[in-house]
Amino acid sequence: MEGAFSFGRNMISRNNQTRIDRNQRRLDAGLLSKHFPEVASIVISMVYNQTGSRTVRRTLNFYPGSCALFRVDCLSDDCVNGGFDLAWIISDMVRNRSAASKGELGCDDSGPRPGHSNIVYEVAIQYA
Ligand SMILES: [Zn+2]
Repeated sequence: MEGAFSFGRNMISRNNQTRIDRNQRRLDAGLLSKHFPEVASIVISMVYNQTGSRTVRRTLNFYPGSCALFRVDCLSDDCVNGGFDLAWIISDMVRNRSAASKGELGCDDSGPRPGHSNIVYEVAIQYA
C-alpha cells in the first residue's frame, strides 16, 4: 500500500479507517473459548526489533474470556497495513496440542517504509 505516501492528504482518513477496521476485527474475532474451548490460557512473549533502534518487550495474556485477536501492530508509525498475525501459529499449536513454540516474524507490510520491526516470539499454551 504505497497510497499513503503518494497521497499524503488522505493519511488521516486512512488511519481512521484502519482504526475502524481494527475495532471491527475485534468484534469479529469472538471469544477465545469459542474458537479453542480446550485452551485454558495463552501467553505470547515478544521481543520487537525495530530497524536501527530500539528493542521492546511485550507480553500478551489470553484467557477463555479474551477476544481471540492475535494480531500485533508493527512499531513503525508509518506502517498502515502491517503487523504480525499469530493466529495461524496458535491454531496450528492447538491442533497439535503443542504447549510451546518459538520463532520469528517479519512485518506483513513489505513496503519500503523506514522503521519496520520484526519480532521474536514465544507462545505458551495451557490446556484445560
Ligand atoms: Zn511494519
